[in-house]
Amino acid sequence: MTILIKGGTVVSTTGADPAEVLIDGETVTAVLQPGSAMALAAEDGAQVIDATGKLVVPGGVDVHTHMELPFGGTVASDDFETGTRAAAWGGTTTIVDFATQRYGENVRQCLDDRMALAEGRCAIDYGFHMIIGGVDNDSLKEMDALVNEGITSFKLFMAYPGVFYADDGQILRAMQQASGNGGLIMMHAENGIAIDVLAEQAYERGDTDPVNHGYVRRAEFESEATHRAIQLAKVGAAPLYIVHLSAKEALEQVAIARGKGMNVFAETCPQYLYFSVEDHLDKPGFEGAAYVCSTPLRSKHEHHQDELWNGLRTNDLAVVSTDHCPFCMKEQKELGLNDFRAIPNGIGGVEHRMDMIFQGVRNGEISLPRWVELCSTTPARMMGMYPKKGVIQPGSDADIVLYDPNHTWTIGVDTHHMNIDHSAYEGIEVTGHVDTVLSRGKVIVDADAYHGSAGDGQFLRRSTSQYLI
Ligand SMILES: [Zn+2]
Ligand SMILES: [Zn+2]
Repeated sequence: MTILIKGGTVVSTTGADPAEVLIDGETVTAVLQPGSAMALAAEDGAQVIDATGKLVVPGGVDVHTHMELPFGGTVASDDFETGTRAAAWGGTTTIVDFATQRYGENVRQCLDDRMALAEGRCAIDYGFHMIIGGVDNDSLKEMDALVNEGITSFKLFMAYPGVFYADDGQILRAMQQASGNGGLIMMHAENGIAIDVLAEQAYERGDTDPVNHGYVRRAEFESEATHRAIQLAKVGAAPLYIVHLSAKEALEQVAIARGKGMNVFAETCPQYLYFSVEDHLDKPGFEGAAYVCSTPLRSKHEHHQDELWNGLRTNDLAVVSTDHCPFCMKEQKELGLNDFRAIPNGIGGVEHRMDMIFQGVRNGEISLPRWVELCSTTPARMMGMYPKKGVIQPGSDADIVLYDPNHTWTIGVDTHHMNIDHSAYEGIEVTGHVDTVLSRGKVIVDADAYHGSAGDGQFLRRSTSQYLI
């Protein structure tokens, strides 16, 4: 069966032009000039989808999500089924989630368990990074095997002592291993040892409200860890990808390294571009708990948000992901009612990334092609999925979003599809709306209805990062 998407404006990293997209089965077979003989011929026998007035963009690629992640005595409230369906509603057709090995656990077993959990339940295609929470001889050796099986990126933590934390020697060893096998090291760059000192002091003083989460996770601790990670990556000769960067000082470190030509990359997330300590984490009562995530939101008075937008323009920030890790207020965030340290870290946002970053196009922060580059093309290349994902061209998977750039609506818990009892984005009015979503040629979202099913999504064996210089 063939589908012809007609009448729309196809957006790529290099421009936005009227074009028609021909799909055969799961694959794009041609991008055609409107009115051309080939376009007219393509209409014969094809199902025609009218995209008049709409942007036709490659499906979103969110390379940082945590479906049903066990954290802090509870489990992230979106499972693979609800979370990937919500992603599809928001125009994201690929996620890369994480399998987690903790200290003392077997990497292979942890990955197998995670694969089994996702199997047959995802609405969209999915891959995995591997969290190495316990660097030892066994886990290092397993990294080589994983790269050959399509798990080509490894996340390490400089935070969360006693949970995921790796010390500098362990980080260096993992980097040396990645240097040999082509893997990408992803780093949670915050000095967790120092953070825990301030966190305990704050608690002892009686400063227990959610806002203290932001106060103790100082920007200096993020920039120091980012700097240290970069130096270790230089010695270890491994490519480095800083996840969820939120402090302008950390961005400076990335910019310096990139200026020297190092293979250092960074992502940020919508929450760091739009939310702040003052307006969100410091909401009255316990409301701020909804905005507890790590790295934390930053102060608007220090203009971190403006600097992050600038980083998105300069490419020192190359990717926007969500770090989707939703916890309900009831019974989950509430675990930290009397102690901010016990609030599960995470914000639900997998559904809102495309819309929130499109607002940056509307506000003049970034160009339309840059929106596609940040949300789709670069994440696909960064994580070894291009050109299967992240682009509309012959041979690519027909993961396509029809986006209405003029439709204004309001985000909130009543309209979202994530399995969470509140929305960090409640009441935000956006212009731009995901109208239709195709995943490998199948229309899964259209006219405010979901037409897909659990198990549509397939596991993606990824190649190594295609962004290395
Ligand atoms: Zn992290
Ligand atoms: Zn994360």
